[in-house]
Amino acid sequence: MDQNEALNRLMEGNKRFVSGTMEHKDFGPRREELKAGQHPFATVVACSDSRIVPEYIFDVGLGDIFTIVTAGNVVDKIGIGSVEYAVGHLHTPLLVVMGHEKCGAVKAAYQGHSESCITSIMKKLAPAIKKAKKGGNEDDELDKAAVLNVKAVMRKLKKSPIVKKALDEGKLKVVGIKYHLDGNVEVVA
Ligand SMILES: [Zn+2]
Repeated sequence: MDQNEALNRLMEGNKRFVSGTMEHKDFGPRREELKAGQHPFATVVACSDSRIVPEYIFDVGLGDIFTIVTAGNVVDKIGIGSVEYAVGHLHTPLLVVMGHEKCGAVKAAYQGHSESCITSIMKKLAPAIKKAKKGGNEDDELDKAAVLNVKAVMRKLKKSPIVKKALDEGKLKVVGIKYHLDGNVEVVA
């Protein structure tokens, strides 16, 4: 599967998710198939929010997407390493960074929340908040910050030598997506 086919597959799956025509998943035979190894066609960095389930949102099954899920869809070294594993060793042709509407982590960072290890997440979100927070409408600025954060995470991942190599060789496409809580996904970068 090439990069565009991979993206189309996610987009088609999202249409089924939105319209309530998701494919029936027969997990038994697929589990057997996957005993031989995994060949996911996309790596997805998404938020831990319980409303954001990439496998449902894109109507994919077992073994289809390699997911890295954190509050605020931010990545630290372990997150980047997980992406590097998927891109460099599993050779997924597509890397998606997905933020979303009404993200609690983005809102907490916007409001200056700081507590225990949550502070590490807030620090990762801080540059996007700084750019978006201009004293305007809070909801608008939160939306803007979520998208800016997706772009910042994409930039960070593109600095990985493994991701960069795959990009330079034309083996990888990196896409930024915003998930709307009505089920629709929007390509934002
Ligand atoms: Zn979130």
